[in-house]
Amino acid sequence: MGSLVGKTALVTGASRGIGRGIARELARQGALVAVHYGANEQAARETVELIDRDGGRAFAVRAELGAPDDVETLYSQVETGLAEQGQGPELDILVNNAAVSGSARIHEVTPELFDRLFAVNTRSLLFLVQRGLKNLRDGGRIINVSSAATRIAYPESVVYSMTKGALNTFTLALAKELGPRGITVNAVGPGFVATDMNADRRATEEAAARLAGWSVFNRLGQPSDIAEIVGFLASDASRWITGQCLDASGGSGL
Ligand code: NAP
Repeated sequence: MGSLVGKTALVTGASRGIGRGIARELARQGALVAVHYGANEQAARETVELIDRDGGRAFAVRAELGAPDDVETLYSQVETGLAEQGQGPELDILVNNAAVSGSARIHEVTPELFDRLFAVNTRSLLFLVQRGLKNLRDGGRIINVSSAATRIAYPESVVYSMTKGALNTFTLALAKELGPRGITVNAVGPGFVATDMNADRRATEEAAARLAGWSVFNRLGQPSDIAEIVGFLASDASRWITGQCLDASGGSGL
């Protein structure tokens, strides 16, 4: 039996990439998982099917983060989905994974890009947590997917890096705020992981090798590399860790 049997989890951006890996890992450990997505219904359905096939339990919920009413849209579906599975509205694990990226050096940044990245990666996330605290049980877990770009200068995506810096600061403050409720709040900081997010940056073999070279293991991360770290942070074994950003970059930039 997995260590998350009887627990409920919401993973944002779980239709693809790292979020799909996290949803599968939490379900593998026994959690009932709400698989959130923004637009790609087919991909979200595939995540749910993969979990079903592995003997886990999951359902999909749609909400475009950054749109008006995104948070209420999301939680009303989460609560309906949980009820359909015979559960109350309580969540044990909230994984804030959904984000948008945008390559832009300082001279390329526009107000539109700045507003879009902060709207999805920072603003929406904060209000998603604020609302989620009504559902999150004492002793629960909040796990934020950040980026190694908060530790290693990455001027190629300056605004994206800033949104993740804000996320780390949020993680720190929230960990103290929620300590009395026994809720841990941590972040993980992946390096380059092979997902759609950076597909254009590794279009050639040479470019892919360059990205792989950031890690001391000389390979790109896989979603499962990140998912298992998140699985640990979701488990009881991590109960004495809070307010931290765990590097999950295969030693990038050491
Ligand atoms: P991805 O493959 O691009 O997938 C993004 C996921 O987020 C999808 O499920 C997508 O839903 C959802 N999403 C994006 N914008 C959304 C919005 N406005 N509303 C609702 N859902 C939205 O990304 P990934 O590479 O797995 O990244 C996951 C997390 O890891 C992100 O926080 C990212 O910043 C972080 N990260 C990634 C890397 C990397 O190298 N890949 C490195 C460091 C950190 P749809 O499928 O519906 O579009």
